[in-house]
Amino acid sequence: MNRTRACFRSSILAAALILTALAPATPAAAATTKTVKVVASLPNLGAIASAVGGDRIELTVIASGTQDAHFVDPKPSYMVKLRAADLLLVNGLDLEIGWIPPLTQGARNNRILAGAAGYVDASTGIAVVEVPSSLSRAEGDVHPYGNPHYLTDPLNAEAVAGTIAAALAKADPAGAAAYEENRKAFVARLHEALFGKDLVGLVGGAKLAREAAAGTLDTFLDGTNVGGAPLKTRLGGWLGALRPVRGRPIITYHKDWSYFASRFGVNIVDYVEPKPGIQPSARHLEELVTRLEHGDAKVIVTRPFVEHRSTDMLQEKTGAVVLNLPLEVGGDPQAGDFFALFDLITSRLAAALTGAGTGK
Ligand SMILES: [Zn+2]
Repeated sequence: MNRTRACFRSSILAAALILTALAPATPAAAATTKTVKVVASLPNLGAIASAVGGDRIELTVIASGTQDAHFVDPKPSYMVKLRAADLLLVNGLDLEIGWIPPLTQGARNNRILAGAAGYVDASTGIAVVEVPSSLSRAEGDVHPYGNPHYLTDPLNAEAVAGTIAAALAKADPAGAAAYEENRKAFVARLHEALFGKDLVGLVGGAKLAREAAAGTLDTFLDGTNVGGAPLKTRLGGWLGALRPVRGRPIITYHKDWSYFASRFGVNIVDYVEPKPGIQPSARHLEELVTRLEHGDAKVIVTRPFVEHRSTDMLQEKTGAVVLNLPLEVGGDPQAGDFFALFDLITSRLAAALTGAGTGK
């Protein structure tokens, strides 16, 4: 083969490669490269969005897991992300009232303003607890629409995943089937993590989730026998881990464990903050010392980002166990995703309550 001919052949090959590169993508290829720009206010929402959105979304999370969700600094750099966003995921119930409105106003992106299709309030579909009879911010209450910390009950992540999947399908209809598939996989994993693989295999996750949501899971498990033993003996997962310490008393720093307490049967007897968002007075701390000395509780659950002077003092004076638990993905190096977060919370709380004994 002479050089001219070889050169001609390689030119044809190069031209073919260029034509291939310039050719319009097939619909399938276009679908996999489509990216929905999603901004989540908080890491837990981001973790669920990541599970549902997969590689079809480009995700930015504003707050870190070590920040107080009530009080995040609205840095202008987030406005740049919000300016280009297709969807903004928020916890809602005014949890982010101090920082999301300034950011969305500064971003000047009509798609993600409250009320627009791209503004996704994840509290939709959540049964909110502690809703006050009248809206009031008297005395600095930061829970004016009820308790906003609904993702401390991991079962609520099922509703949130549904809300996010629906919003993504609306923003990116070509990906609807993929989002639904991802949502189903997330929910299946959630059910196994919460109830244990064994029980889910016997009964089905959907049935267990319905019983749990209705508050009838115990009755169902106690009253249903399989192979001569009640189903409750097959309960595993996070609920199984905390079952031996069910009903034990705890004190929490902030009123953020209410949903968790209902789901897992933990008994919250008092708070270090006299009202959500209000730091404790000397008098309130003295009352807590008395309660702890009386044996009303032996474990105090606090958070990584609040002041620790009060809980240090309570620990020194009464010997109470102070447990620093993250609430959000990334709040602890071991809480890398939503499942690792609840693995950590349930195992550490079960260990602390087991070590602390049954109370008085
Ligand atoms: Zn709160």
